[in-house]
Amino acid sequence: MSDEQQKKMPVTLLGGGCASLSLAARSNEFNSHQFTLIEQKDRIADDHTWGFWAMPWLSHVVPKTHKSWNHWRIISTNKTVELSSQQHPYCAISRHEWLNHCRAQAIDFGAVFSSNSNTYGTQQVLDSRTPATPENTMLQHFLGHEVKSDKDVFEPSTAILMDFRCDQSQGMHFIYFLPFTSRHALVESTLFSTKLVPQIFYENAITQYLEKNLGCKDYAVKRIEQGVIPLAELQQLDPTLTGIGANGGAIRPSSGYAFTFIHKQINQIVSTARPGQPLLVNRPHSHFEIFMDGVFLNVIRCHPALAPKIFMSLASSLTGDEFAKFLSGEASVSIWFKVILAMPKLLFLRALLPAKESKKI
Ligand SMILES: Cc1cc2nc3c(=O)[nH]c(=O)nc-3n(C[C@H](O)[C@H](O)[C@H](O)COP(=O)(O)OP(=O)(O)OC[C@H]3O[C@@H](n4cnc5c(N)ncnc54)[C@H](O)[C@@H]3O)c2cc1C
Repeated sequence: MSDEQQKKMPVTLLGGGCASLSLAARSNEFNSHQFTLIEQKDRIADDHTWGFWAMPWLSHVVPKTHKSWNHWRIISTNKTVELSSQQHPYCAISRHEWLNHCRAQAIDFGAVFSSNSNTYGTQQVLDSRTPATPENTMLQHFLGHEVKSDKDVFEPSTAILMDFRCDQSQGMHFIYFLPFTSRHALVESTLFSTKLVPQIFYENAITQYLEKNLGCKDYAVKRIEQGVIPLAELQQLDPTLTGIGANGGAIRPSSGYAFTFIHKQINQIVSTARPGQPLLVNRPHSHFEIFMDGVFLNVIRCHPALAPKIFMSLASSLTGDEFAKFLSGEASVSIWFKVILAMPKLLFLRALLPAKESKKI
């Protein structure tokens, strides 16, 4: 470590995922803090795609995206809503590409990497290790196939964020479809429920969707991605440390989106850093957002069959820019007003009742 690095306040980053590496990659913006990132090499996750809307705090990420879409659709059995935005396109980035970029940048800017978890003592520790998920938590669980076809079968200008034309028997279920080119796409079968389903369920949903809805029968599966995201406000893994990323409250309970909120949290850490002071880390969602998300999840838990109607109504009530802002935690009072007006009010009012009562609805 150089003399200059030794004069800085040491900060340990635990875990080598999105939050830690994205923060370490901005080491050049910290004049008085020195990062050491502790990661276990045997824990490197498989590649997957992060989706998010382009927002000002992601201006350094957007140029690295694999593909972006100015149009996106939400589809149910009897309706399609298409939204567009020039300012806030929906973007997709590869986990491995982004983390490799961050790692290289972090090394260039003087961050230190270690696999020895005994190297942190009394210094500040920012902990990004995965928090525990309590039993009976609502989960977003999914399996995706990255597929390639020999024919032009996809419409690459429009992403399909939710298509509910699939088996709804196991909970709220939709297909997430990102067409990278007319022959290359990511197709994910995604459920919101408390229990996972057998792998064959997601696979059948993907095959049927490609065949029935897109007329695509001949294709090769190039990559599989799978994940489970807890839809809840989770307790930090170790309350004596400072949580960041998913362990610092970054997952938005109603959507499972976290990438954009991790970067919002990092921006806040950068902008509040002061010489000689430990870094400040705020949870990126307001109490109001967490409360409203809890009410929404209560409705989906009790009435999964109403999910298509609720999401169609939400999408129909907003412009593309408003939708992007709402899902990125930037909703103004007027956006919230439109969202609340679009929801089935009696159900939402009943979902305000304590959990036991609301199950009787
Ligand atoms: C498959 C998948 C797809 C997703 N897609 C999206 C998306 O499209 N958009 C979006 O906004 N969000 C998405 N998310 C949610 C979220 O963005 C990711 O989970 C994101 O990686 C969270 O970043 P993080 O740094 O908090 O955690 P991670 O990136 O998971 O990093 C945690 C790190 O801690 C390490 N670690 C964990 N436990 C321990 C331990 N006990 N000891 C030591 N090290 C440990 C891990 O190896 C990892 O390096 C997705 C999540 C998954 C799993």
